[in-house]
Amino acid sequence: MRAVPTPATPAPTGFPEELRAWQAPLREQFPIITANPGLAYLDSAATSQKPRAVLDAATAYLTTSNANAGRGTYPWANRTTRLVEQARDTVRAFLGDPEPARSRVDFVSGASEGLRRVALDWLPRFLTDGDEIIVPLGDHEANALPWFEARDLLAARGVRITVHEMPYQRDSHDYDMAALAALVTPRTRFVAATHVHHVYGGDMTVHLVRRAVGPEPVICLDAAQSVGHVPVDLAALDVDFLAFSGHKALALPGTGALWSRGLRGPVFAPGGWDGTPNTAGIVSLTAALDWLGDAGPARIGTWTEALAARLTDGLRHLERYEILGCPLSLAFDSPVRRRRGIVTFRHRAMEAVDLGFILYDRGHMVRSDRHCQGRAGEERTSVRASVHVYNTPEEIDRLLDDLAAL
Ligand code: PLP
Repeated sequence: MRAVPTPATPAPTGFPEELRAWQAPLREQFPIITANPGLAYLDSAATSQKPRAVLDAATAYLTTSNANAGRGTYPWANRTTRLVEQARDTVRAFLGDPEPARSRVDFVSGASEGLRRVALDWLPRFLTDGDEIIVPLGDHEANALPWFEARDLLAARGVRITVHEMPYQRDSHDYDMAALAALVTPRTRFVAATHVHHVYGGDMTVHLVRRAVGPEPVICLDAAQSVGHVPVDLAALDVDFLAFSGHKALALPGTGALWSRGLRGPVFAPGGWDGTPNTAGIVSLTAALDWLGDAGPARIGTWTEALAARLTDGLRHLERYEILGCPLSLAFDSPVRRRRGIVTFRHRAMEAVDLGFILYDRGHMVRSDRHCQGRAGEERTSVRASVHVYNTPEEIDRLLDDLAAL
């Protein structure tokens, strides 16, 4: 078991009044949160709660102009088509797309479907015999399994590709950029990476991946835990694909998007029949991204990092708990912001699932299992507490008090 170092200076635990004044009215906008004052929802990395504006947008659409998109000629159908196109523009703007006229936005049910589309609809037409790809097996399975499916699909056609494991640094769980650069050969055509780790909460410094792999390989980014949680800027990331889950970013379940740069390789056009889109979900995604844009992704990131830092700092003083990933977490005045709004831990003497049940009895909704981590991930189960803009320091303190008593 890893020894937990004590930092030279303790991280600040007070929350600036100005930030609290900003957050309080935002929390009030989440009906499910205000209706359950005795419960703390600490599972936003799995899915987020929805603000009134998002629920209202979907209801308004369904009660005034529900129709199919891109098909009819009557006003409801035309409006639906317009709303779907508007949602594509909203996604591009929200992600800071530097070349919106050239990119493509596909609506999907979540990051998993987005990544599978890249793996199964695009990659097999891009790779040729002898090519190599690099994929992260310590991240979410959604960003590991599809690349092997693509390899097997190609092998069945007689096209052999090699799948390399993305190298990690042992302690920080960030990617090891030097080892990554050393893995690249002239046959490396594709690299998959994750923006924010769903177990360790670490920011994976993916803006350094392009520098490590050079200009040629196509980079596909799983942004399931970053979009809606922290600012995401495509111009700075320099990736070719980005998939995210709208439902983790305050939109309705069954929403997400796959953004593709559309500059290199075969055009992303599987040519299949996509069928009727999730129009109400897409409308909710526009409303969610607008809401997040107004609230300010940078401030949301500061808030959730500070909550995670509070939890990490509290846990560090509880001997019976082991924190997964980097045990240090600083907020507000830290030059190094490494942990986003996710903290995963284990009780040294209690199974994570048991702890999850006990915590729910005390009003905390956390997740306890293996968190769908890929095969290079943790073998044992753990408890994950993940926050969003609606969570408060008081909820974290209550959780810490209850953990301390166990
Ligand atoms: N990638 C990461 C990092 C995730 O955390 C998740 C979900 O937890 C996914 C992908 C899959 O997202 P979805 O279930 O929305 O498809």
